Amino acid sequence: MATDCIFCKIASGEIPTEILYQDDEVFAFRDIKPITPVHLLVVSRKHITSLADMTDAETPIIGKMTRVANQLAREQGIAESGYRLTINSGADSGQLVPHLHMHLMGGRMLKWVH
Ligand code: 5GP
Ligand code: ZN
Repeated sequence: MATDCIFCKIASGEIPTEILYQDDEVFAFRDIKPITPVHLLVVSRKHITSLADMTDAETPIIGKMTRVANQLAREQGIAESGYRLTINSGADSGQLVPHLHMHLMGGRMLKWVH
């Protein structure tokens, strides 16, 4: 846990947030500024700052996050209409929170971003 990290504070309960899924490795909640009708964040419990900083041994968490995101997409009713999973890494991607997380976005037609 990083003491000044927003997502570590959500994980610990210091920032009260409705948790939609949790287990010993990941947890999920709604993005505070949704850009799509369904916009959830699937977050690793471990404080990993970005994809670029992951060790090879840490990479299986991405598979776990994907499995949880797929389950949440079904629960949110967007599995058939379609959805996008996004992990931003570093300044050029627009990453704002330096704690590994996956965006689950759907509920409307998405444009590709350049
Ligand atoms: P990033 O740009 O790092 O990939 O995405 C970070 C996301 O976290 C943003 O979409 C932002 O709206 C969301 N976010 C930042 N702070 C909070 C918060 O305190 N609570 C929630 N639920 N979402 C947050
Ligand atoms: Zn953190």
